[in-house]
Amino acid sequence: MSALGEEARRRYARHLMLDRVGETGQAKLLSARVLVVGAGGLGSPVIFYLAAAGVGLIGAADSDTVDISNLQRQILHSTPDIGRLKTDSARDTVEALNPDVKLAPVAERITPDNVMEILSGYDIAVDACDNFHTRYLVNDACALQRKPFVHGGVFQFEGQASTFIAGKGPCYRCLFPTPPDPEIIPRGNEIGLLGVVPGTIGLIQATETVKLILGLGDSLVGRLLIYDALKMRFRELNIRRDPDCRVCGERPSITDISPGEQSYIPPRLSPRSSAD
Ligand SMILES: [Zn+2]
Repeated sequence: MSALGEEARRRYARHLMLDRVGETGQAKLLSARVLVVGAGGLGSPVIFYLAAAGVGLIGAADSDTVDISNLQRQILHSTPDIGRLKTDSARDTVEALNPDVKLAPVAERITPDNVMEILSGYDIAVDACDNFHTRYLVNDACALQRKPFVHGGVFQFEGQASTFIAGKGPCYRCLFPTPPDPEIIPRGNEIGLLGVVPGTIGLIQATETVKLILGLGDSLVGRLLIYDALKMRFRELNIRRDPDCRVCGERPSITDISPGEQSYIPPRLSPRSSAD
């Protein structure tokens, strides 16, 4: 007996033809719960492809509205969406693409007050953040809840991706123990970015996420993949767990994230950001 209905069998036919996905794999995708932190340049391809693949619950966390300058890369949103919440625009795009998928909008900023509770409803988190403080916060929450954190970052003509699973490999904090000083790091939307670059990196993140859900292949755990669009080259660095890591090391100093915790709040929080 088939678990999938007739329409689902047609929608996911190309998955079903793959022995290593099949109906069992498609059922795993349909019952998976993925939190995508950011519905911008990286979050757009991640959410779009996870929705097409039939990932059943996608949380989209973003508190920004769509700006015309986002549309050079943020393919979830269109010109008529300018001024709307990105999460509303993302929900409409996903609903039109695949009614099997529920997009849960999280239109508030992720903070120490809400991160543990929001993450508890998901199996995997995807790093499509536009700022370092949110990235550290979600990394730490994922490490504490032992959930995979699929990282991506972009800068000008370059990007990078990795998959962090605390206990199996390093976390983001193992690589970069503390956030950079916000006084010297320009905000995301002050940095030039070739619009296609987050497409490439976001699709690597979506691929990692789908493989994790299906339990297929080798993930980027322990490897940082670096993409140079100008040379059209990928390199990879082997990365290791830091035994002194504050969140996933031998004697962690971060063992919980308390509401009101100040260390994740940037000293000067600008009201707008649409970087990635
Ligand atoms: Zn770590």
